[in-house]
Amino acid sequence: MTKLLEINNLFVNYGGIQALKDVNLIVETGEVVTLIGANGAGKSTTLRAISRLINPRRGEIIYNGRNITRRPSHEVVQLGIAHSPEGRRVLARQTVLDNLELGAYIRSNSAEIKADINKQFQLFPRLAERRHQLAGTLSGGEQQMLAIARALMSRPKLLLLDEPSLGLAPAIVREIFSIIQNLRATGVTILLVEQNANLALQIADRGYVLEAGCITLTGKASDFLNDQRVKQAYLG
Ligand code: ATP
Repeated sequence: MTKLLEINNLFVNYGGIQALKDVNLIVETGEVVTLIGANGAGKSTTLRAISRLINPRRGEIIYNGRNITRRPSHEVVQLGIAHSPEGRRVLARQTVLDNLELGAYIRSNSAEIKADINKQFQLFPRLAERRHQLAGTLSGGEQQMLAIARALMSRPKLLLLDEPSLGLAPAIVREIFSIIQNLRATGVTILLVEQNANLALQIADRGYVLEAGCITLTGKASDFLNDQRVKQAYLG
């Protein structure tokens, strides 16, 4: 396996708040790695630092052998990192199709873009049926699917998924997690942030526990599922 992502000694502040303190993390090519932790632990902040939506105070982010710590976010997308943010953030007044096209903003070959839109429709048949519907009128689960599909439109090597199960009914969550598993089979590497640690650990290869901005535990997902500390704190 080769390292696709390596985070070294990362510190992030929001004004006076230290959100990340010396975070170290590795994602190998082809893995699904999950980051679990309580509310406010810094999970979303880690993803935002990787996709370059925020600037770290210290540390480095190496992607595919390249130091991207200070690169602009559009360049990071071009290099193959896509971020499906918490809260979905689809463009409510645009159609499903428009949202997907926007996800391909770094690309110019319209035939390829069209082919990729069709790929998303195969992966997410619910979106195909609703291609002309305004994204804001989709259900929560459909908006989550659209957010993931839009991220995939940049043909990422590394997909950052933030809380895909948030606020969704169990049946939809199962559907979305089965799609995430299919994605991994297509060779996309995934860094998954999830409140639902049980579910995340079932599809992940490895996990990290983040507590108050620090990584406190790392290991195989299967070991986490049997770890007393993880069980007590995160698996209910
Ligand atoms: P959740 O599961 O609740 O989303 P999280 O683990 O993703 O939590 P983050 O959103 O990364 O946590 O937040 C980490 C810390 O940074 C929290 O204390 C939060 O209040 C703070 N924080 C996050 N975004 C900002 C911001 N834009 N301005 C100020 N503080 C922020």
